[in-house]
Amino acid sequence: MKYILSRSSVELLRQFAWSRVLLAFDYDGTLAPMVAKPRTARMRPRTEALLKELVHTYPCVVISGRPRADVKRFFRGIGLTDIVGNHGIEPKNASPGLLRQVTGWRRQLEGALQDMRGVWIEDKRYSVAVHYRQSRAKKKAREAILESAAVLGEARVIGGRHVVNILPMDAPHKGIALERERARLGCDTAIYVGDDETDEDAFGLTQPGQLLSIRVGARASSAAAYYIRTQAEIDRLLILLLKLRRETPLGRTG
Ligand SMILES: [Mg+2]
Repeated sequence: MKYILSRSSVELLRQFAWSRVLLAFDYDGTLAPMVAKPRTARMRPRTEALLKELVHTYPCVVISGRPRADVKRFFRGIGLTDIVGNHGIEPKNASPGLLRQVTGWRRQLEGALQDMRGVWIEDKRYSVAVHYRQSRAKKKAREAILESAAVLGEARVIGGRHVVNILPMDAPHKGIALERERARLGCDTAIYVGDDETDEDAFGLTQPGQLLSIRVGARASSAAAYYIRTQAEIDRLLILLLKLRRETPLGRTG
């Protein structure tokens, strides 16, 4: 993995800034700092201000694991090009069938995990997230969650930071959502920034020269090619992207 804010990476960023590029971001831990209570996960005012400028110079989308309506409230007045929720399912694949399936899972999980203290089941309608951040016995909690998820059938289970995500097996993931948005918006390339396990679906797209994948925090096992060191560095990345775009013919029109 290489550091995207190093001097030697600027040329690559410039190439992307000069192309018809889509900027795509995860939300929690990427645009907004991680917090104990997800409801309060706000972006810093500086990040918000930068995004407001960025949407005038690039097509910008957010692809989050949260329900779409939930993400939308964080971006009121910012003018994003699009918001994709539930790891890629919303809005395109939000169907009554999936809703039924996931509602069934939630009930089953509630039954199986009702005695686990500090475990909280988040019903996101088209997927479920079981959180165990508040648990005092995290390892035990995680094992119990994985066990009860394993018997749901047709479920894709993806771990995360103090969370287990349970998604419908055949539903689109973040990688599919990214590809779909890029094609729909007529972009040739994409930059994707994320921080967690479900972002690996986007990092792992094999498109040499077309996808610039950036992880928040370096990690050898990640499929992302580049990293920023901390969430706070997202602002530096946005500033650089703005600056580079303004040097291009594309940036001068907006
Ligand atoms: Mg995240």
